[in-house]
Amino acid sequence: MDQSSIDALRSQAVPAFTHFIDGQHVAASDGASMDILSPINGQVLTSVARGTAADMHAAIAAARKAFDDQRWAGQAPAARKKILMKWADLIEANALELAVLGVRDNGTEIGMAFKAEPGSAANTIRYYAEALDKIYGEVAPTAKDVLGMIHKEPVGVVGAIIPWNFPMMIGAWKLGPALAMGNSVVLKPAETASLSLMRMVELAHEAGLPPGVLNAVTGEGAVVGEALGLSMDVDVLVFTGSGTTGRRLMEYSARSNLKRVYLELGGKSPNIIFADAPNLDEAAKVAAGGIFRNAGQVCVAGSRLLVEQSIHDEFVAAVASVAQSMNVGDPLNITTQIGAVNSDAQLQQNLGFVETAQGEGGQLITGGNRILEDTGGYYMAPTIITGVSQDATLSQKEVFGPVLGVTPFNDEQEAVRLANSTVYGLAGAAWTSNLSRAHRMVRSVRTGVMHINTYGGADGTVPLGGVGQSGNGHDKSLHAVDKYCNLKTAWIKL
Ligand code: ADP
Repeated sequence: MDQSSIDALRSQAVPAFTHFIDGQHVAASDGASMDILSPINGQVLTSVARGTAADMHAAIAAARKAFDDQRWAGQAPAARKKILMKWADLIEANALELAVLGVRDNGTEIGMAFKAEPGSAANTIRYYAEALDKIYGEVAPTAKDVLGMIHKEPVGVVGAIIPWNFPMMIGAWKLGPALAMGNSVVLKPAETASLSLMRMVELAHEAGLPPGVLNAVTGEGAVVGEALGLSMDVDVLVFTGSGTTGRRLMEYSARSNLKRVYLELGGKSPNIIFADAPNLDEAAKVAAGGIFRNAGQVCVAGSRLLVEQSIHDEFVAAVASVAQSMNVGDPLNITTQIGAVNSDAQLQQNLGFVETAQGEGGQLITGGNRILEDTGGYYMAPTIITGVSQDATLSQKEVFGPVLGVTPFNDEQEAVRLANSTVYGLAGAAWTSNLSRAHRMVRSVRTGVMHINTYGGADGTVPLGGVGQSGNGHDKSLHAVDKYCNLKTAWIKL
């Protein structure tokens, strides 16, 4: 990755995107499209089809037909594996093009986007491709006169609704296991980050995926997302996004065919710093990275910093110094550490949270404001607010922006109580040199992922999923496969 290759790609015009249904590019049924603004400069980048419910129904019908005639699930596992491996190779071969396109669309700094988007997507697809012929059914321990077998079958049609922060990475978390297990998929990318994912769908077909197995419909969540959620012909719905939309999806399921719904809904993750942390400078650096990279638009972001009282002031000063040294700006510059906020609406929401936090007694230590406004883009200074009480809005509500709230604690018990005082339970971290305390924290903090002496970076071999209102089900690892399978029992009298 070098700056001149990035600059050459960024100067290219981006063609208009349409849906991808049954192996074809298809415009919206009423011909409508929607402009896509780049968060880098607020200018129109291109347009995508503004899908209708009819478009979504056509995509679901194509997926159902492809599943029913077994053009994908019916192929030998080795053949399916070959196509998915080729897809991963194509993603890798086009990595920079995909990364730059994605950044122009969603604003993530290129250094992170290059690794986390095409890089991680290719690895994920490959992981499930390699796994698909190593997943066996079971023979039950029955009495001698019967044979009990448990088959793992694909569920049929999977609907996948994807957010805008890491569209390719999170898309691959759903597409990898869904396709590996032989399902058909209908994908609904987010309004403000669909381009790189749509390009990835095209590459799947270049790799030999049969038409109709993977379909993608762009447009508004409230229109095409709703049509997907309410469909009588979708068997499983997988989602990453906001709690508000997650609740809607469960309602759609209840109002339609009781499809299974798996939700990954973000969090308010505690990063807990004990005075006996092995290296406080390292902890400060990682704490800043854990909330400010990608402008805080990371579901596992360590957005609540809980600091032992005896080191509070010194530690906050260290994190603030890192924050102030971070390079915020043009996400396509390789030296940028914090890119653009995804949209103007998100930026305004972030600024609103800062105002509320100050109104509730929080002290602004650094940031809190929009910057680089003359670029027309949506940039925000990394923000730290101290004195945030347990029941303050900033302790309880996910911002999804570069805003860190800090709360002091006196002992381990209080740290655990504060850590567990939200409705969420996605991720967390504790920094300590005490091995017993480290294990106690893993056991007592209610989250899906608990880091010790680090934050983030858990790779594809381990599951990611929340407890409480952070959702249900898991992405990544072999555990994710279960969401995309039905168990069928065969009970045979011998
Ligand atoms: P955010 O608030 O972070 O944008 P959302 O939950 O609104 O998160 O968006 C995540 C995904 O959910 C996007 O693909 C969006 O289009 C989709 N979505 C939004 N509203 C609905 C809805 N009513 N039904 C189905 N999908 C929706």
